[in-house]
Amino acid sequence: MKARGSGHNPRMQGSLPVADRPRRPEWMKVRAPSADSRYFEVRELIHGQHLHTICEEARCPNIAECWGRGTATFQILGETCTRACRYCYVHSGKPEHPPDPLEPLRLANTAAQMGLEHVVVTSVDRDDLSDKGAAHYAATIRALKHKLPQASVEVLTPDFLGHEEEALHVVLAERPEVFNHNIETVRRLHRRMRGAKASYDKALWLLARAKEVADYPVLTKSGIIVGLGETNDEVVATMRDLREHGVDVVTIGQYLQPSSRHATIDRWVHPDEFRWFREQGEELGFGSVFSGPLVRSSYRADEQKHAAATGRGAVAY
Ligand code: SF4
Repeated sequence: MKARGSGHNPRMQGSLPVADRPRRPEWMKVRAPSADSRYFEVRELIHGQHLHTICEEARCPNIAECWGRGTATFQILGETCTRACRYCYVHSGKPEHPPDPLEPLRLANTAAQMGLEHVVVTSVDRDDLSDKGAAHYAATIRALKHKLPQASVEVLTPDFLGHEEEALHVVLAERPEVFNHNIETVRRLHRRMRGAKASYDKALWLLARAKEVADYPVLTKSGIIVGLGETNDEVVATMRDLREHGVDVVTIGQYLQPSSRHATIDRWVHPDEFRWFREQGEELGFGSVFSGPLVRSSYRADEQKHAAATGRGAVAY
């Protein structure tokens, strides 16, 4: 096995090209939901309130673990995304409905019933809406702050294409503790994976501008998917770009091809390489680096926030 890009450490195990090893390696194995966890309780609460989660919509491999420990990531603004990123399983098309005005209330009530101390909210892209969904994000944060005043709120937003500045003002006026926007992949692959509407530089701009717009110390966060054809050096270059735009927390995790219609996996990144990413991220000065095969943007988001806020430092799984 050979590390892709800068191996540096000769003892570091490198990636497995998927062409040589099409089946998941040991380190990608996950467990099934267990009856003595909170998985079934969480599922009932979420389904009972007709809410969506990115955990289900994106077929996240961590669902047994996250729901089992009583957490989930809510997906607002419906099930249909107006973009079609090549790595994402969320249904793509033309949304049939405007935002549900009661969704923020149901979401806040459900988060309260789950006893969440850190609530993560994301959404589909809604290019069909004039404000790109910003007001619905704001209403959701407001409802959460009202219902769960002790909890912190993390929003993982779309790029609010064409409405960026106004959207940042609307969303950050409600003071979410964490503003997350995923860069997703390295500069070279960005357009190919995300389509012509998305922009690597716009994502960096949005993250930097969020800090300027917020009148409180908002934590900013972004995520990188690996295994899409990038090199390790390009991952580090992306982390450097994020740091240069003031980002506090970064997550790095392995891509899993959700269906045969989606981008193929290029390599299984070895846990040693994830550790190396963490070290590089530490050197670059991130408050927290969550880097590991099964890490996702919202994976153990409460711990990521805590690590960054307390200066506990970088973590890898
Ligand atoms: S990692 Fe995030 S999306 Fe995946 S199950 Fe956990 S909370 Fe849901």
